[in-house]
Amino acid sequence: MNFFIQRSELRDIYDKVVAGERISDADALRLFETKDLNALGAIADFVRARKVGNHASFIINRYINYSNYCILSCQFCSFSRKKRDADGFEFSIEQIVEKARQALKLGITELHIVGGLHPSLPFSHYLEMLKALKALDARLQLKCFTAIEILHLAWLAKKSTVETLTELKAAGLDSLTGGGAEIFRKEVREAIARGKESAEEYLDVHRTWHKLGGRSTCTMLFGHVETLADRVDHLRQLRALQDETNGFTGFIALAYQPENNDIPVKTPPTGFDSLRTIAVSRIYLDNFPHITAYWVGLGMKLAQVALSYGADDLHGTIIEEHIFHMAGATSPQLQTETDMIKAIRETGRTPVQRNTFYEPIKILADSVPATEVEPPSNKSKVLEDNLATA
Ligand code: SF4
Repeated sequence: MNFFIQRSELRDIYDKVVAGERISDADALRLFETKDLNALGAIADFVRARKVGNHASFIINRYINYSNYCILSCQFCSFSRKKRDADGFEFSIEQIVEKARQALKLGITELHIVGGLHPSLPFSHYLEMLKALKALDARLQLKCFTAIEILHLAWLAKKSTVETLTELKAAGLDSLTGGGAEIFRKEVREAIARGKESAEEYLDVHRTWHKLGGRSTCTMLFGHVETLADRVDHLRQLRALQDETNGFTGFIALAYQPENNDIPVKTPPTGFDSLRTIAVSRIYLDNFPHITAYWVGLGMKLAQVALSYGADDLHGTIIEEHIFHMAGATSPQLQTETDMIKAIRETGRTPVQRNTFYEPIKILADSVPATEVEPPSNKSKVLEDNLATA
């Protein structure tokens, strides 16, 4: 047994976990409240290793925000703009396809596409965008739209959620994104995201998508005005939906960025808070296959450490990130494939390039020297072109 657990107040929870018993909400709260980060991390690492062995994954992907115009004004959001704002933007379908074309040269397997709730684009525009991207390369996996965007599109289309998702799927949608969950408790949502969909609506969009055979990820935005009990409540609702549908591929705890918005939070989530939240998520969400450490919010250094605190995935290369950076994130805009592999290897894990559904594409055993996975020299030129089209 791990030295830290042997002497820890968390020993009874460890025993439950080893026996394969599900931990309770009260256990999860105790885990959140402990100061014994080493023992907490050791339990989470035990769970991680039992799930995935020595593998840690990443994806070669590109983010595209098609527009930041939004009819809502969530208090925590630094991304949305109104039409009158000088720094609002909107890309045409042709521009989006061109970004995708350039990114394909970097070996991306996924486009991750979200935007604000655009005030005037019709539903047909989104269908055309998906079809145009699939026409570019049918193998490119399209992970698009948050739950609130789906509700917005359903409203535009004057269709039910299930009809809307069915049409989007037929047009090429492969996966929903997990964004927009924030914190489910009503009072917190009211304080940080007034006007946004309710917890029930968020969960129902994902439930409907899962029942259509779709998969998605889910999130929790932590470190603002919520309590630790609110976090447990949030995780409880995600675990219950996963029990029902088994449609979530992974969970991502998003560290709140305190700059450039209206919520009065002086201290952003610390390294301690980020690691314990990832660790508790890994232990509590026993029916989730994967836990992602989102390097954009954590910084790559902390994300790398999180691989020893329950996370088994470092997310993606991304190439161009707006939402967290407009909120004040100081991490770089992108990671290269080589950066991701080096970061994982340094922790003693075997890097695995994965697809949208966390399925392995390539296992980079230690015998593969880093130079063999270095991007070809022309990739940096392609990267520059990609950013130039931003
Ligand atoms: S969080 Fe999403 S829905 Fe809310 S204002 Fe920002 S872009 Fe709009």
